[in-house]
Amino acid sequence: MPIAGSEIVKMLPGRKPCKDCGFPTCFAFAMKLASGGASVDKCPYLSKEVKAKLVDLLAPPIKLVTIGSRENAVKIGNEEVVYRHEKTFVHKPGIALLISDKDDNAKIEEKIKKIKELQFPWVGVTLKADLLALYFESGRKDKFLALVKKVYGSTDLGMVLISKDMDALFAARDICADRRPLLYPITKENIDKAIPKIKANLTPVGLRGEGVEELIPLTTRLKEAGIEGLVLDPGSKNLMEAIRDQTFIRRAALKQGFKPLGYPTIAFPCFMAKGGLKEIMVASTFVTKWAGVIVLSDFDQYSLLPLLVQRLNIYTDPRFPMAVQQKYYEVGEPDEHSPVLVTSNWALTYFLVSSAVEATKIPAYICVKDAEGLGVLTAWAAGKFSGDSVGAFIKKCGIGDRVKHRKLIIPGKVARIKGELEEALNREWEVIVGPRETTGIAAFLPGVAKELKGLS
Ligand code: SF4
Repeated sequence: MPIAGSEIVKMLPGRKPCKDCGFPTCFAFAMKLASGGASVDKCPYLSKEVKAKLVDLLAPPIKLVTIGSRENAVKIGNEEVVYRHEKTFVHKPGIALLISDKDDNAKIEEKIKKIKELQFPWVGVTLKADLLALYFESGRKDKFLALVKKVYGSTDLGMVLISKDMDALFAARDICADRRPLLYPITKENIDKAIPKIKANLTPVGLRGEGVEELIPLTTRLKEAGIEGLVLDPGSKNLMEAIRDQTFIRRAALKQGFKPLGYPTIAFPCFMAKGGLKEIMVASTFVTKWAGVIVLSDFDQYSLLPLLVQRLNIYTDPRFPMAVQQKYYEVGEPDEHSPVLVTSNWALTYFLVSSAVEATKIPAYICVKDAEGLGVLTAWAAGKFSGDSVGAFIKKCGIGDRVKHRKLIIPGKVARIKGELEEALNREWEVIVGPRETTGIAAFLPGVAKELKGLS
């Protein structure tokens, strides 16, 4: 919360509660403003100056910046806490894949294909990299613009355009401005020439300084010019410097309310490490240490997936358990004779059970009962995985229409609900007690599957 309601109320007109804002008193409106639940426009009696001051005070301490457009828009910033355990991190960093205009055509095609195809279904979401970073390295403007055109024409992804040559940078921007590319780097050397060109077709801007201090006059000048979609690069040369700089920027924005550093950051493991595992480890540090965009020179499924899973875990709200949707899921291509298992909707439980079933190569159905994100045994102890409630779910989830048999496998840890569950299912289903641990599924499931096939 950038400013307290008790401070805001002092700036409101204090008329007799006219209620024109939709709230019973100025104080109620002030409290709502402070919590982000109302906009200053609701009170028609604010002077222009007070309104502008309130908008500024209520702005998030780290500005929200959007790179890309439509469903591929990457939103970064708008964070409220230094450490995740204080509340939650909100906007996960965009992972960008670097393509140089010095790369040959085959390499460029390979990278475009890679970022399109490397997508991982993961506990109800799809994990993937988000952006392409296009690097003017050849010294030939025509090559760089050809690369931008190629990427613009063959993907819908957002882009980071990297060029020290300002003419090439803005010519590239004009090719793909509707995609809201991030333009990088704006520095103290080129800012004067850059400001009118940026304003001609506004998209986000990446600032580079030789140290955090150098960024402050740059953000101040751009803000004065009405350019606010900024992303910061403090020019850190190694991981130690990067952690120091990222920490300084984050704390200055959130703890000191220092507006000139209240913007998300960009980090370049691609230039800090020479590829391979080291680069991914540097990127992993930036996921934890607050980067808004992380640019990688390359990746494959073995390096990208762990990074994306780490990002998912760090940017998941720790106040709520990760859960999957209540419904039945198919593993493989199950038919009417396939086994039916039931479990709770804690994401980790679902992931372990589905992975174990998948490993048996036996197509099956997994009925996932909403237990408010709790594991099976905890859910049972909390009264959220009782025989009655599981029975009601099985009846309404539609699994009865998908299989001919009436055999339901429950986790061994809740064997005690067997009788109650059979009762709840009007004794139309036979409840089979499965293994206590998912590691037992490999030995257990083939026997059940064989028996069900035999019944057909
Ligand atoms: S409209 Fe303005 S003056 Fe009237 S109650 Fe709301 S905040 Fe107060």
